[in-house]
Amino acid sequence: MKKIAVLTSGGDAPGMNAAIRAVVRRAIYNDLEVYGVRHGYVGLMEGDFIKMELGSVGDIIHRGGTILRSARSEEFKTVEGQQKAIKQLKDAEIDGLVVIGGDGSFMGAGKLTEQGFPTIGVPGTIDNDISGTDYSIGFDTAVNTVIEAIDKIRDTAYSHERICIVEVMGRNAGDIALWTGLTSGAESILIPEATYDFDDVMNRIRHGQERGKMHSIIVVAEGVCSGEELKKEIKERSNLDTNVIVLGYLQRGGSPTAYDRMMASRMGGKAVDLLIEGQKGVMVGWKNAQLVSPSFEEAAKGKHKINLDDYDLARSISI
Ligand code: ATP
Repeated sequence: MKKIAVLTSGGDAPGMNAAIRAVVRRAIYNDLEVYGVRHGYVGLMEGDFIKMELGSVGDIIHRGGTILRSARSEEFKTVEGQQKAIKQLKDAEIDGLVVIGGDGSFMGAGKLTEQGFPTIGVPGTIDNDISGTDYSIGFDTAVNTVIEAIDKIRDTAYSHERICIVEVMGRNAGDIALWTGLTSGAESILIPEATYDFDDVMNRIRHGQERGKMHSIIVVAEGVCSGEELKKEIKERSNLDTNVIVLGYLQRGGSPTAYDRMMASRMGGKAVDLLIEGQKGVMVGWKNAQLVSPSFEEAAKGKHKINLDDYDLARSISI
C-alpha cells in the first residue's frame, strides 16, 4: 500500500473534517501518499483528486461540513459508473480508498471492493442510523445543536404559554428525536420506531394543562410526519393552536463537539491502519466502547436499533 484516497459522501456531518484530517495525517505518518477526492463518488468517476499534505488538513478539526465537499450520484450506482471510478483510481496508481459517509455510501464502497478495489468505510451521518456501529460521526453535535434550539424555544413557549412542535431530522431513525426530546424535557416524542399514538400526545397536553402547565414541547422525527401535519391534527382534535419549528439544515452544520472530534480521529486513524493491514470491504464501527471492523455485508445484516428503554424512560419522566 503506497497511495490511498479519501472521500466524503451523502449528507455532510460535523466531524467529517476531523476524520479527513485523521486519515491524511495517519497515512503520512505511515509514509503513504494521500489524495482527497472532491465531491464524493461524482469526483471519483471524474478523477477529481487533489494531493493532500500535512498542511492541507490544518485548521479544519473544528470546522463543520467537509472540505472535500459531498455529493450524491445516480450514475455511481451502475456497474459502468463503478468501473469508471476504479479506472480513475488505477490510473492515479491509488491502492486503497476510505469512504466517509452513511449506509448508501457504504453500499457503493462495497461494490468497489466486490470489483477488486480495497475500500474501507467510516460512519459519518447525523442520523446515527448505520448498522454495524453504535455511533456515527456527527450525531453528538447534531443533538447538542437541537437541544440548544429547543432550550431557546422553551423560553418563549413558557412565556407565551404555547405548544411548540419541533420537527427534527430522522427519516428512518428516531435517534435525534429521542435524544433531544429526552434531554430537553419534551412532553411528547414521536419516533418512527414506536407506534404513533396521537391520543397519548393529546392526553399529555391536557394533563399538563390540568395542573396549570400551559406550555408544551413536542419533538417529532420527520419520518413520522411533518410538523405541519401534526399541527393540523392537533387543531382538528382540540382546536388548540400550536407553533411549528422545522430545524432542517441547522442540524447538519456547526463546529463538532469534543466527542465527535474524538470519534472522528479514532475512526479515521483506524481506517488507515486497516488498509495498511490489507483489510478491505469493512467499515470502522464502535461497539461496546471499542473500535470494531465488520464487513459491509455483515454490518448490513444487522439493523441499527434505537434504545427503546430510553423511549420508555422519556415517557415516564417528561409529563
Ligand atoms: P446519509 O445518511 O447522510 O443520507 P448516505 O451515505 O446514506 O448518507 P446516500 O445518498 O444514500 O447517502 O448515498 C450516497 C451515495 O452513495 C449515492 O448518491 C450513490 O452514489 C452511492 N450509493 C448509494 N446506494 C448505492 C448502491 N446500492 N450501489 C452503489 N452506490 C450506491
